[in-house]
Amino acid sequence: MLTFNSRTAVVTGAGRGIGRAIAETLARNGVTVVCVSKSPESCGAAAAAITAAGGKAKALAVDVADGQAIAQACTALLAEFPVIDILVNNAGITRDGLLFRMSEADWSDVLATNLTSCFHWTKLLARPMTRARWGRIVNIASVSGILGNAGQANYSAAKAGMIGLTKTLAREFASRSVTVNAVAPGFIRTDMTAEFVGNPEVSAKILEAVPLKRFGEANDIANMAAYLCSEEAGYVTGQVFTVDGGMAM
Ligand code: NAP
Repeated sequence: MLTFNSRTAVVTGAGRGIGRAIAETLARNGVTVVCVSKSPESCGAAAAAITAAGGKAKALAVDVADGQAIAQACTALLAEFPVIDILVNNAGITRDGLLFRMSEADWSDVLATNLTSCFHWTKLLARPMTRARWGRIVNIASVSGILGNAGQANYSAAKAGMIGLTKTLAREFASRSVTVNAVAPGFIRTDMTAEFVGNPEVSAKILEAVPLKRFGEANDIANMAAYLCSEEAGYVTGQVFTVDGGMAM
């Protein structure tokens, strides 16, 4: 059993996949969850499912690649909730391609969505956490940000950037009991990886590099993220937890 003391969380990218599993896990533990996604349908469905299961949730459609949209969302949230106790920066996209074929738009879209978004959300929501002397920030990075991955120069740079941001903010916020950690998933079965997982040849090749010989599920990441958001993880900060079936060991 994890302890949460009726906290409030923002989970970005909560409409589908890993973010939705994190939102549902937190909500099952009594956390009020603001489900953020790009499309109103996606976060709306996630929040409705949580509410139908007896949890507390709110949907908020925000394009996290747009700093002004994040600022508006945070102003509205902080008018409604005195403090957002937990922030999970999970929204992310891929625009894969070898460097020589990668357009500048593919580079900047991935950096804006996956990395600069974390700067904006954290800058706006962490101040009330520091005043309250309690907070949890969890950044969903990737093993690509640790090992690198051919074809993902933009994505692995963004995810490595999230890891640097995590370690620095852990140091900046530690004196206020606000912890900052990252989770680095390996290959998890979601819409993002459906193309690879659904292709027997490609998936067999990928699983050669996974000691546990299976793809991860969104709940494998949600369980780690929930622990890092809980009361029990109060002495854990500045760390990167790989949840990858042993890929990056
Ligand atoms: P997914 O199934 O593709 O879902 C992505 C979520 O992010 C969706 O809810 C989507 O919103 C949201 N999103 C994307 N761009 C956005 C934007 N500009 N503004 C707001 N929301 C946006 O992805 P996933 O596999 O769950 O991945 C979640 C995170 O884990 C990502 O950061 C990803 O890089 C990371 N990760 C995944 C894997 C994996 O194997 N799946 C491995 C390592 C790391 P809509 O629903 O509205 O489209």
